[in-house]
Amino acid sequence: MRKVIHWFRRDLRLNDNTALYNASKEAEQIIPVYILSTWKRTHPWTGPNRQAFLCDCLRSLADDLRRAGGQLIIKAGEPVTQLMQLIQETRAEAIYFNRSYDPYGKEIEAKLASSAVDSGAKTIGFKDNMVFEPDEILTDEGKPFRVFSPYARAWNRNVRPPVLPATIKFNTPSGLESLPLPTLDFWELQKEAQIVPGSESAAKARLRNFLNAAAKRYHSKRNFPDGQSTSRLSQDLRLGTISARQIITACEAELLLGHEADSKSVRAFINEIIWRDFYMQILAHYPSVLERDFNEDFAELLWDHNPAAFEAWRQGQTGFPIVDAGMRELQATGFMHNRVRMIVAMFLTKDLHIHWKEGEKYFMQKLVDGDIASNNGGWQWSAGTGADAAPYFRIQNPWTQTRNYDPEGVYIKTWLPELRDVDPEKFIAPQADPLTKNYPSPMLDHAKEREVTLARFTAARRSKT
Ligand SMILES: Cc1cc2nc3c(=O)[nH]c(=O)nc-3n(C[C@H](O)[C@H](O)[C@H](O)COP(=O)(O)OP(=O)(O)OC[C@H]3O[C@@H](n4cnc5c(N)ncnc54)[C@H](O)[C@@H]3O)c2cc1C
Repeated sequence: MRKVIHWFRRDLRLNDNTALYNASKEAEQIIPVYILSTWKRTHPWTGPNRQAFLCDCLRSLADDLRRAGGQLIIKAGEPVTQLMQLIQETRAEAIYFNRSYDPYGKEIEAKLASSAVDSGAKTIGFKDNMVFEPDEILTDEGKPFRVFSPYARAWNRNVRPPVLPATIKFNTPSGLESLPLPTLDFWELQKEAQIVPGSESAAKARLRNFLNAAAKRYHSKRNFPDGQSTSRLSQDLRLGTISARQIITACEAELLLGHEADSKSVRAFINEIIWRDFYMQILAHYPSVLERDFNEDFAELLWDHNPAAFEAWRQGQTGFPIVDAGMRELQATGFMHNRVRMIVAMFLTKDLHIHWKEGEKYFMQKLVDGDIASNNGGWQWSAGTGADAAPYFRIQNPWTQTRNYDPEGVYIKTWLPELRDVDPEKFIAPQADPLTKNYPSPMLDHAKEREVTLARFTAARRSKT
C-alpha cells in the first residue's frame, strides 16, 4: 500500500506497537493521527489528571515521531467522522489501529468499519492492548472465565506473544492539517494534582527502576503503601506508553537470571498483569458490569444516599487516618496505592453503605490510571458484588489494616500533615479523644456498620431465593 493512517488510541508509543509495526511493513507512508475527545470540564468519567498525562504523552509522542520522519496529526471530535475526513483528505488506503475491548471502543470500531466500506478504505484492527484477548482464554467448554485463579492458570499455559521491533520510518506526507498539541485549556480544565511525567522514555525508566529495586521485594512488600513498593506503571499501561508484552518480556528475562526469592516476586508481579487482562475480558464478555452487579444475587442490596458522608470520604475527613491518607494521596497525585484503594473502597461501600458506582465514578475523575475495566473490577471486588470478589462477609477492618500495612504510620503521616506529631499507636484503634484539634473523630463505629452490611447482604440473598 502507498498510504495508511495509524489511529493512535491507547498505544502512545513507537516500540512494540502492533498496528503501527504492521502499517510500517505494509505501507510507504504512514499518517499517524490522534483524535481528541471534545467534551468539556463537566464530563463525569474523566478529569484533569488523566488529561494532563495524555497531553504529556502526546507531546513526547509528537517529538519521537518527528525524529523518525513522521508528524503527529491532531484532530478533535467524533472519531469516525474525523477518520473518514482524513481518508478523503489524504486518499489513504487503510486505517490501522489496535483494538479496544470496552463497549464504547468496540462500538466505534464497528461504526468505522461500516463507514470505511463506503469510502473504499480498509480498516484493520490488531491485538495489542491485552497480552491475550478475551476469546483467547476460555474454559474447556469455550466459555469466559468468571473466577481469577483458573483464568490465571490458563493464561500462564499460553505462549506469550513476542515483543515487536520499534517503528522507525514514517515518511508522513506534508501539508496535512493538524490542531496544535493540546493543553488542559482545550477541555477548559485546570491542573489539579502533581502527576508523574508521561512519555515512552519515562515509562521505560519506571520499568527499569522497578526491576532494579522494588521488584526484588515485591512479593513481601507490595501491600505496604509507604515508599515505592510497586512499579507505578499503571498510567503507562492505561495510555500505552509501554505495552504489557514489554513488561512481561522484561520480567521473564529477570526470571532467567534471578535468585529464587526474586523469582517469587517477579511471578507475583506478572500475576497482577494477569488481573488486568482478567478484568478486561470480564468487561468484554459482560459489558453489563458497568451498569449492574456482576453477582446478580446482590441485585436487591440496599444502599444509602448520603451526600454529606460521601463528601467527608472524598475530602479525606472521615476520622479514619488510613482512609483519609488514601483519599488525600489521590487528590495530591492522581494515584493511590492498591492496598489503600481496597481499604477506601470497602469503607465507602461497607461502612458508609454508599453504592460502588459513586466511588467508581469519582476514581475515574481523579485517577491518572483510571481504566474502566480495572476500576469497575476493583470496585465490584471491594463491594463484594464482582467477579471473584472478596466474599461479602470478609469485611476489612480499617484499624487492623493500618496495623498490618502502615504500623509506623509513615504513609498516614505523609498525607495527613496534621497528624505528624501523633503517636502511630493511635492510628490502629479508635481513640476516645480527638487525635488533634484540626482532625475529625471517626465518623462511625466500624463494628456496628459491619453488622449492618452483613444484614443487608443476607437480606439481598434471601430476596433472590
Ligand atoms: C477500587 C479499585 C480501583 C482500581 N482502579 C484501577 C484503575 O482505574 N486503573 C488501574 O490500572 N488499576 C486500578 N486498580 C488496580 C490497582 O490498584 C492498580 O493497578 C495499581 O495500584 C497500580 O499501581 P502500580 O502500577 O504500581 O501496580 P503494580 O503492583 O506495580 O502492578 C503492575 C500492574 O498490574 C496491573 N494491576 C495491578 N493490580 C491490579 C488489579 N487489582 N486489577 C487490575 N490490574 C492490576 C496494573 O496495570 C499495574 O500497573 C484498582 C483497584 C481497586 C481496589
